[in-house]
Amino acid sequence: MTARILLLGGVTEALAIARRLGPQHVYSLAGIGRVPQDLQCQVRVGGFGGAEGLASYLREAGITLLIDATHPYAAQISRNAASAARIAGIPCWALRRPAWQAQAGDDWREVEDWAALIEALKPFRRPLFTLGREPLQHLDEIPPEQFWTLRALEACPGNERCEVIGARGPFHIEDERALFRRRRIDVLISKNSGSVATEPKLEVARELDVPVLILKRPVLPEVDRQFGSLTDLATALLH
Ligand code: NAP
Repeated sequence: MTARILLLGGVTEALAIARRLGPQHVYSLAGIGRVPQDLQCQVRVGGFGGAEGLASYLREAGITLLIDATHPYAAQISRNAASAARIAGIPCWALRRPAWQAQAGDDWREVEDWAALIEALKPFRRPLFTLGREPLQHLDEIPPEQFWTLRALEACPGNERCEVIGARGPFHIEDERALFRRRRIDVLISKNSGSVATEPKLEVARELDVPVLILKRPVLPEVDRQFGSLTDLATALLH
């Protein structure tokens, strides 16, 4: 049987793997980011319709290996991938970036969910949110003593208590420093993505003694093989 990979993307490293895949393989994206137009492999955009839908796709497309290289917080698609591969009887591999670890001088506080985050934010006045678009749903709930800065992939309107900045990484330390100073940031809110491209904000928080509220990573399913780096996954694929 010809090997045919379905690569579920969502992180930068996934695109690097996709660039090495030939035309029989498929790179799948949720459709929330940019869709590359210069790949040799096929590109598919949008959901499959849950684990059952993904399992049907795997069978119909004759996929022999499923690789989950989605974002560490995209837990639903990771769960779907593990069970769909089981249903279809093929192996599921996953690329899972190690989480960032607090260093000396860091004041990191892990929060479970949005409610816990809002509670932990109470002593602060000028938070910088860097965890995607979820805060946009709560713009009407911003307490009068707070002013939010929200950074997301795409700019969009904020309100009188929130400025929304559209920007994509990689971010550079000088720019992050300037942002913290300009917006007088007193707390940073982040996921623990483990990405090098977004790490400089943590360095700046350390330098300026700014606490960091970190949204807890979701628990991800067991898979047949798990890789912590692009190099390890690429090596396994070569074999
Ligand atoms: P999710 O909750 O795990 O996925 C929701 C649904 O989106 C999945 O059930 C699936 O739909 C579809 N989907 C997700 N990734 C896909 C892929 N690679 N190919 C095809 N379909 C895909 O993840 P999310 O809603 O995208 O994001 C959850 C969190 O992760 C957010 O906080 C977001 O900021 C962060 N994040 C996600 C991505 C990403 O590329 N997904 C990138 C950066 C950050 P069906 O059930 O219909 O198959």
